[in-house]
Amino acid sequence: MSARLLDGVAAADAIRAELVPRARAFADAAGRRPGLGIILVGENPSSEIYVRGKLKSADAAGLRADLERLPATASLADLLALVERLNRSEVHDAILVQSPLPAAMGGDAERRVFDAVLPEKDVDGFHPVNVGKLVQNRAELVACTPSGVIALLEREHIPIAGRRAVVVGRSDIVGKPMALLLLHRHATVTICHSRTADLPAVTREADVLVAAIGRPGFITREHVKPGATVVDVGITSIADRETIARMYAPGSPRWQTFEKRGSLVVGDVHPEVADVAGALTPVPGGVGPLTIAMLLRNTLIAAETRAARAGDHSRP
Ligand code: NAP
Repeated sequence: MSARLLDGVAAADAIRAELVPRARAFADAAGRRPGLGIILVGENPSSEIYVRGKLKSADAAGLRADLERLPATASLADLLALVERLNRSEVHDAILVQSPLPAAMGGDAERRVFDAVLPEKDVDGFHPVNVGKLVQNRAELVACTPSGVIALLEREHIPIAGRRAVVVGRSDIVGKPMALLLLHRHATVTICHSRTADLPAVTREADVLVAAIGRPGFITREHVKPGATVVDVGITSIADRETIARMYAPGSPRWQTFEKRGSLVVGDVHPEVADVAGALTPVPGGVGPLTIAMLLRNTLIAAETRAARAGDHSRP
């Protein structure tokens, strides 16, 4: 292996440590902690784990985080009413609706719910107002995963300005905001997707390659220019031996973890890329921890921005 590993755990720890005094200063001034309301519908096991992690991290950073649960049988109207209650809440500066929502809520439920969250409390940066501000490079609240990637690259002193960046994936929550953030930092950006012709030829142009696809080990050596920085956003839990065998040698440490647990969390980047890339984010321990750190940071930004606006309004 030659690639330098970009340590997302250390970067996330550093960001969270910076938030603690800011959260304390807010609490001293406002007489309450910055508040995050998390809505969880149903009992999806992965969502339960993510939400538990978010609640714990928020508390450790000095934020207030409240979990609002709805049963899987709740209607979209129930959920929208809960969003409305948190929109009006004085103690909640930020709202997160954990996805996925139950399929029974309908195909456009997520969009309708994200649209219903007040833009100034939209901690995920999914609201069209915040997306529009991101396009114009004046967003306060930006989607957590892509802003976490930027925070990691900056902390690791990876140059972005003037470089060629390629983002594989064009989702609203990762690929598109990722491309915009890189563009605003003066990279020359290409976005790829499932219809991109000759993907390896395009990705080999990248000085910074971001994979946000959701296909384990998809990005291989042939996709990567020697020395490039490769950011692996993908997170997939794999339980089938064939996929693991395609990525890891029997007996290797990751293989042993799989044998022990019966599943393995892997990224979109094949481990062989470490032989070609200059720097690489591991999975786990790369982008994932940054996403939660950015959620906390966005909560604080939302709280500070609301407080500043309230201060403006109270002036004569
Ligand atoms: P998504 O909405 O499913 O989008 C996947 C994107 O990959 C789509 O734009 C799709 O293209 C593209 N794609 C699929 N197959 C492709 C192929 N063969 N060649 C090129 N592009 C291809 O997924 P997402 O929500 O963006 O998430 C992507 C991954 O990131 C997932 O593994 C997810 O679990 C992970 N994730 C991680 C974090 C974190 O905290 N680290 C946060 C969010 C997501 P089309 O548009 O053409 O279909």
